[in-house]
Amino acid sequence: MSDAKAKPTGPIPPYFQTLDGELAIGGKTASALVAEAGDTPLFVYSTAALDRRIGELRAAMPNRLGIHYAMKANPFAPLLGWMKDRVDGFDVASGGELKLALDAGVAADRISFAGPGKRDRELDYAIANGVTLNCESEGEAERAFAIGARIGVAPKIAVRVNPSFDLKGSGMKMGGGAKPFGVDAARVPALVKRIVAAGAEWCGFHIFAGSQALDADAIIAMQAQTLALAAELAEAAGAAPPKVNLGGGLGIPYFPGDNPVDLAAVGGALGQALSAVPAILQDTHFCIELGRYLVGEAGVYLCRVVDRKTSHGEAFLVTDGGLHHQLAASGNFGTVIRRNYPVAVATRFDMPADEVQSVVGCLCTPLDRLSDAALLPHAEVGDLIAIFCAGAYGASASPANFLGQGAALEMLV
Ligand SMILES: *Cc1c(COP(=O)(O)O)cnc(C)c1O
Repeated sequence: MSDAKAKPTGPIPPYFQTLDGELAIGGKTASALVAEAGDTPLFVYSTAALDRRIGELRAAMPNRLGIHYAMKANPFAPLLGWMKDRVDGFDVASGGELKLALDAGVAADRISFAGPGKRDRELDYAIANGVTLNCESEGEAERAFAIGARIGVAPKIAVRVNPSFDLKGSGMKMGGGAKPFGVDAARVPALVKRIVAAGAEWCGFHIFAGSQALDADAIIAMQAQTLALAAELAEAAGAAPPKVNLGGGLGIPYFPGDNPVDLAAVGGALGQALSAVPAILQDTHFCIELGRYLVGEAGVYLCRVVDRKTSHGEAFLVTDGGLHHQLAASGNFGTVIRRNYPVAVATRFDMPADEVQSVVGCLCTPLDRLSDAALLPHAEVGDLIAIFCAGAYGASASPANFLGQGAALEMLV
């Protein structure tokens, strides 16, 4: 037994149970799920957890607000198919994602396409299908007009605004100052006029100021600024926006000390703000776009202990998983200080945490650490390790081919 000092781990999301001493997801034990999938490593996404999350969100948010899924968080096809009847729209960020959404049966008029660097063939694909472009620049708008003229379809274009504010406490700032995203607010009214004059269908504004915020007050302030900016830009353009996408920003607790967003506070404030919008936004449809908030906590990454070793008195559980599937949990996806995600020994879920052990992956790099010096039940070769908060930016945002490892299995239960 190692006497190394334990480091804290993030909070396990409240969507999972214990069954026969094991972690259970959607009523099945971790080992049963792995047997069903056929191998490890395995991502399991729980529809029960997704359902609860969407229900909580709908209950807290004003009815007038559409909920969109930002599918870059998790583009697993069965999950898209499940999600399509439960959210009001899909936000895609590439032609590849657009194809996945259309293949999943999402109606084109419920899809918007954001992202800098859209290629002509991606614009063509979106315009031909009647998908709304969240336009990132004047140049992109001109290319869209030309493609629309060539194929005989009026492009649907919303203007993505680079706001002059950002989301305080946000994990990833996407607005404020010089940015590759969106059009600087000062130039937006002229672009709206140009879109209308070119005979395209102007759909409104897309204003995204940041992501992964847990502080309700920061989100409320950002939404108020976003509404004020939308009204100001609409006045300057002399046109009422059919739609305003207020962005996202709602985060999830990953690390020790993180607390969930106070959803009632955010929803209450947004309800009040939407019932008191300036006249020019009276008939506007509003939505928010969320990725990790919808799917992050519904996913669990399961990997198997293939070796157990001790080095200088520290215990290591060497698994068949790693950062090639869970880059974010290893601390290498936009985090400044490495901290532990929530972690458990899935096959000893009801046992007391009695030993400090580090969970590492199978890659030959010191970066490949899934959990550092966490206090866990003593585990042996063959045990399953669970890394939680794996539903967003796991499989799709990790370098699966690094060291020739290949992708993990994925499963929706
Ligand atoms: C990435 C992204 C999102 C989703 O962010 P989450 O933190 O996963 O909610 C939403 N909108 C835009 C424009 C994005 O780039």
